[in-house]
Amino acid sequence: MNGKGLLVVISGPAGAGKGTVVKELIKDDNIRLSVSATTRAPREGEENGVHYHFLTREQFEKMIAEDGFLEYAQYVGNFYGSPKKQAEEWMHQGKDVILEIEVQGCKKIKEKFPQCVSIFIMPPSMEILESRLRGRGTETEDVIAKRMKRAEEEIGLSGDYDHVVINDTVEECVEGVRRILELEKQRVSGADC
Ligand code: 5GP
Repeated sequence: MNGKGLLVVISGPAGAGKGTVVKELIKDDNIRLSVSATTRAPREGEENGVHYHFLTREQFEKMIAEDGFLEYAQYVGNFYGSPKKQAEEWMHQGKDVILEIEVQGCKKIKEKFPQCVSIFIMPPSMEILESRLRGRGTETEDVIAKRMKRAEEEIGLSGDYDHVVINDTVEECVEGVRRILELEKQRVSGADC
């Protein structure tokens, strides 16, 4: 990818508040969020093509075979992937593209695009993480337990990211990410000189 836009990976355990932070970031017209594909069932209020492209297992496998993903991974029993075409178009237009993906996906993106910027959104504590997950009211106990276990594993890998930002308050976290993106842009344009 040779566009001028940054490829930005944002990860963090489910319930860390990535979604809220990203929603604020994309109010900037130069930042776009890649809509992932998934085989997971839509949650209440989720729209196809807006929150995710909801695919059957067969459709997902077809996209893999056609090399349609920048990366894909399995997470708690479902497939998730970042479609290639839209992200590439935006980057060629000079937009920064955010991939809101989990840690395995980040690893694959880093291998393919070493110039990407990776940011880990850290919850203030495990207790707060669990209460945020429960507060959604959309998950069963079994899924909450699995997601908490996965969260611990993910936090253990946060050291692999270029930046870690604690999501204590949304405003501070968003500001922290914005500052990182500005600095990274300066660094990239400096490297071009
Ligand atoms: P959820 O089911 O809560 O929407 O997402 C579960 C996890 O999958 C989250 O950590 C989310 O960031 C991650 N995820 C969403 N889309 C993608 C994707 O395209 N690729 C990868 N690797 N992970 C994704």
